[in-house]
Amino acid sequence: MKAIRVNEYGGPEVLSYEDVEIPEPGPGQARVRLAASGVNFIDVYQRTGVYPIDPPFTLGQEGAGEVEAVGEGVEEISPGDHVAFAGVMGSYAEYVVAPVEKLVPFNVVYVEARMAAAVMLQGMTAHYLTHSTFPLQEGQTTLVHAAAGGVGLILCQLAKMRGARVIGTVSTDEKAKLAKSAGADEVILYTEQDFAEEARRITDGEGVHVVYDSVGKDTFDKSLDSLRPRGYLVLFGGSSGQVPPIDLQVLNQKGSLFVTRPKLADHVATREELLWRAQSLFTWIGQNNLNVRVGGSYRLSEADQAHRDLEGRKTTGKLILIP
Ligand code: NDP
Repeated sequence: MKAIRVNEYGGPEVLSYEDVEIPEPGPGQARVRLAASGVNFIDVYQRTGVYPIDPPFTLGQEGAGEVEAVGEGVEEISPGDHVAFAGVMGSYAEYVVAPVEKLVPFNVVYVEARMAAAVMLQGMTAHYLTHSTFPLQEGQTTLVHAAAGGVGLILCQLAKMRGARVIGTVSTDEKAKLAKSAGADEVILYTEQDFAEEARRITDGEGVHVVYDSVGKDTFDKSLDSLRPRGYLVLFGGSSGQVPPIDLQVLNQKGSLFVTRPKLADHVATREELLWRAQSLFTWIGQNNLNVRVGGSYRLSEADQAHRDLEGRKTTGKLILIP
């Protein structure tokens, strides 16, 4: 089968389209023939070694497709079932072997396989951010950075579902339109305007209850300045680079602020939580209450281009690879 391998850390050019053996499922595992694989920013961190994995390895950790074979002792899933997953390495490939406890079944009548692949990682992230890390309540105000991105567009919609007022930040007018269509009440062009000043102006000087910040290095300080006293900064990524260590006294001076740095794996650690988040998303998609925008669809062999576009801030919504 074909797969995208990383033989050494580096730029998008290190993504190597190679022939590898089709993997065999062991006990408790299933082999999935992938209909689509999701591209995520974490793939960039792993390609560059920011999140180290010893090369060589097959990149990617999200996808959806059809179960083709199961290993010993597997009863809950059978060949022919449609399943999606996040957090299983090796999805930039035609087939992946996954532990069955990581697989979420879905009904292709209501959710297309490409859509299932597109929503798992970014959708469950938006879900835990709005439902668990800082469970938004009716009438609260949130600032969402990179609001037209993969996580961003879903985050705007879930924040609105919870009754919050959403202020998005984006880099271009085109992205501003998309953020608005995802429900953002206000959008700030943070490449042109001081977003902290704007967030304060929009909230009559009070500041927002929570900032969901995935941009990191470039936005962190001003994200703190956008908060009201006792507000929450949820730092969940570093698209512009990782945030350097901070002096905790700053949190005191700026109004008894909270900062957290969560990750998805800790929010889908049990089967119950995984199914709650994934099936909620599938239900909303099936009911047309959640729109997942696939902003770019690439052939598996074009994974390097998908990475260039993602890192170049050229993309909106989700990017997927089709094997
Ligand atoms: P996005 O689609 O959001 O793409 C990144 C966006 O970030 C860009 O489009 C751009 O939007 C913005 N950005 C701002 N500065 C930069 C920069 N210097 N370089 C590149 N992009 C920049 O990606 P994803 O939805 O895949 O991921 C968003 C973030 O969420 C990532 O940081 C990722 O690591 C994080 N994440 C964290 C998870 C967790 O559990 N902790 C899980 C999933 C994702 P604009 O042009 O509008 O500025």
